[in-house]
Amino acid sequence: MTEFIPAAKPIIGAEERAAVDAVLASGMLAQGAEVAAFEQEFSSVLLDGRAVVAVNSGTAGQHLGLLAAGVGPGDEVIVPSFTFAATANSVALTGATPVFADIDPDTFCLDPADVEAKLTERTVGIMPVHLYGHPADMVAFERLAEAHDLAVFEDAAQAHGASLHGRRVGTFGRFAMFSLYPTKNMTSGEGGMVSTGEAEVERMLRLLRNQGMERQYENEIVGFNARMTNLHAAIGRVQLTKVEGWTETRRRNAAFLDRHLEGVATPPVAAGAEHVYHQYTIRVPEDRDGFATALREEYAIGSGVYYPIPNHRLPSFGLELDLPETERAAREALSLPVHPSLGDDELERIVTAVNTLAKAGS
Ligand SMILES: *Cc1c(COP(=O)(O)O)cnc(C)c1O
Repeated sequence: MTEFIPAAKPIIGAEERAAVDAVLASGMLAQGAEVAAFEQEFSSVLLDGRAVVAVNSGTAGQHLGLLAAGVGPGDEVIVPSFTFAATANSVALTGATPVFADIDPDTFCLDPADVEAKLTERTVGIMPVHLYGHPADMVAFERLAEAHDLAVFEDAAQAHGASLHGRRVGTFGRFAMFSLYPTKNMTSGEGGMVSTGEAEVERMLRLLRNQGMERQYENEIVGFNARMTNLHAAIGRVQLTKVEGWTETRRRNAAFLDRHLEGVATPPVAAGAEHVYHQYTIRVPEDRDGFATALREEYAIGSGVYYPIPNHRLPSFGLELDLPETERAAREALSLPVHPSLGDDELERIVTAVNTLAKAGS
């Protein structure tokens, strides 16, 4: 029996288990020294020293980041519709309105021209997503923000270590959020990291994650409990020592697929972009779902459809909008395994299966 190749595979080893054990033995389980060390290390490994605040999920980080930046009722923030629901949810949870714009068909990331078309006098910010690990066009968004006095926020949930023209994602926006969910490029179990270059945003993030307290029982504002635990931070610290190596392997795997796949559109990389291949996403214009079923049932290869329903059409938002590239991507996008656990045999199997199916379908 051929072994199934999963679409994603978190790598958890003896070091992570030992780190969790050490925290358990210490008795200091909640947010403490491990979390503070993780923030420091995440900043120096991935963010060139920019301040980082750890929270208990990426979504919480995005929500708190927006609140810390002053986004609220009456405001509009432009987001892509082709992304995970957390992007728009976090805007809506502040009381502001997420305004959905279309994507660039090459990178699957937010399209600056459509963002410009969606600006109103209520627009306060733009929140591009570095989707699949490909950096969004931050140069264009910074230019737009400058011209229209807007803030840029980054959804970097899928893009640990990606960069554009030598500058790391997570160092562009007023804040940026990284997710540490198990399927992301590194994990802490659940968790999120928020980076910011502004001392006041950092202070607000620290207050908002801890009931509005900096000093015990002297609550300055109304806040949440969005604290990361020392247990999660201990896992994250180990993963952080490995993420750059994993990214190199993801890039090698992607380069192999780029070289050998035939008859399907492979993911282009924009000039100056360093892609970290959270996903390796091809387009299957005809019967994408049948293609995915055949991969699974005939070739024992997992794949992922991220995302089958554009956010604006989800029951939670229920909007009818004209976003043609978003609709097309939702029909055609198929993510193949690219994770660092793949061996050469498995990469060969993926190439053979995809090429055979693409040929049969053409
Ligand atoms: C995973 C993800 C999030 C949310 O992160 P969680 O840690 O799962 O809360 C937000 N945006 C995007 C694009 C994501 O992929």
